[in-house]
Amino acid sequence: MNGFEYISAVDLKDALAILSREAGNACPVAGATNIVVKAQSGRIKDKLLVSIDALDELRGIREEDGFLYIGALTKISMLANSDLLKEKASVLWQAAQVFADPVIRNSATVGGNIADASPTADTAPALLALDAEIILQSVRGERILALDQFFFSVCKTALEDDELITAVRFRPNGTGAFVKLGLRNAMAKTLISACAVVRLDEKGNVADCALAMGSVAPRPIRARTAEQALLGKPLSDASLAEMKKAVLKDIDPIESIRASAFYRANVACTIAERAVRKAADGHVND
Ligand SMILES: Cc1cc2nc3c(=O)[nH]c(=O)nc-3n(C[C@H](O)[C@H](O)[C@H](O)COP(=O)(O)OP(=O)(O)OC[C@H]3O[C@@H](n4cnc5c(N)ncnc54)[C@H](O)[C@@H]3O)c2cc1C
Repeated sequence: MNGFEYISAVDLKDALAILSREAGNACPVAGATNIVVKAQSGRIKDKLLVSIDALDELRGIREEDGFLYIGALTKISMLANSDLLKEKASVLWQAAQVFADPVIRNSATVGGNIADASPTADTAPALLALDAEIILQSVRGERILALDQFFFSVCKTALEDDELITAVRFRPNGTGAFVKLGLRNAMAKTLISACAVVRLDEKGNVADCALAMGSVAPRPIRARTAEQALLGKPLSDASLAEMKKAVLKDIDPIESIRASAFYRANVACTIAERAVRKAADGHVND
C-alpha cells in the first residue's frame, strides 16, 4: 500500500472483521478531527482508514445495571448537551463544556479522545476521577479494563491492533469539579487540567477523594499520593498545603512548546487545589 485507502464498515461485526484481517495496517476513523492532523503530519502513513461512523450501536448515553455507559462514537457535543450527564456525571459534562469549539465538539468522539491517549485529552481526567472502565472488542471477544490501566504513555495504550473501543462505563456520581487551564479562553489545548470528586463526612472530614490530572505527565493520571494526603482530614489551608506538596510526587510534567516542565509543576499544585476546593464547595453546575 502506498498512501491511504479508505473503506466504511457497515456495522460492528464488519468493523471487527476488517480490523482482524488487516491488523497492523488498519486505522479506525471516528470523528476524524485528529486522524487528519496525524496523516498530514506524517505520524501515520500507508494505512487502510476504516470509517466506523456507521456503527450506530456505539453511539449514545444509557443507564444500565447501575452503570452509565457512553458509546465510543458519542460526540463531545452530545456530552455537553446532556442533562443526564450534567446530573449524574457532572465532571464529564464540565469537561465537555470547555472542549475545543462547537465545530470540533460536533465531530470529536469520546472513543477517539481516549484512543488518542494525549496527556491533554479533556475527557480523560474526568473519566479517571469517575473510576471509569473501558470496554474493548475484537473478533476474539470483549475485555473490560480500568481506564487507569489503559493509558501507558503519549499515544501508547493497551489497545491491540484488532480492537475497537466500544464504550466507557462508570458508576453515576453527580459531584465534583473539572478545572482546565489553557493559553486562551476558547479553543485552547489544555496546559494543565485537574478533576476532583470529593465527599466530606458529617464531621467535614474528607471521606473519599479522587483527583485526576491532565498534561502533568506523559499520560493522564490519578494523583493518588495527593488523594491520600487529604483522606480523613478537614479541608483546611494546612491539609491543602500538604496535598499540594504530594501532587509534586504524583506528576512528571512534560516539556512542550506550550509550557515548560518547571511551569507545569508549579501551576499543577494550584490547579489541583482549585479543583478540590470547587468540588467540596458544590454548585459547579450553576
Ligand atoms: C482544532 C482542534 C482542537 C482540539 N481541541 C481539543 C480539546 O480542547 N480537548 C481535547 O481533549 N482534544 C482536542 N482536540 C483533539 C481531538 O479533537 C480529540 O482527541 C477527539 O476527541 C478525537 O476524536 P475523533 O472521533 O475525532 O477521533 P479520530 O480523529 O477519528 O481518531 C483519533 C484516533 O483514535 C482512534 N480511534 C477513534 N475511535 C476509536 C475507537 N472507537 N476505537 C479505537 N480507536 C479509535 C483512531 O484510529 C485515531 O488513532 C482538538 C483537535 C483539533 C483538531
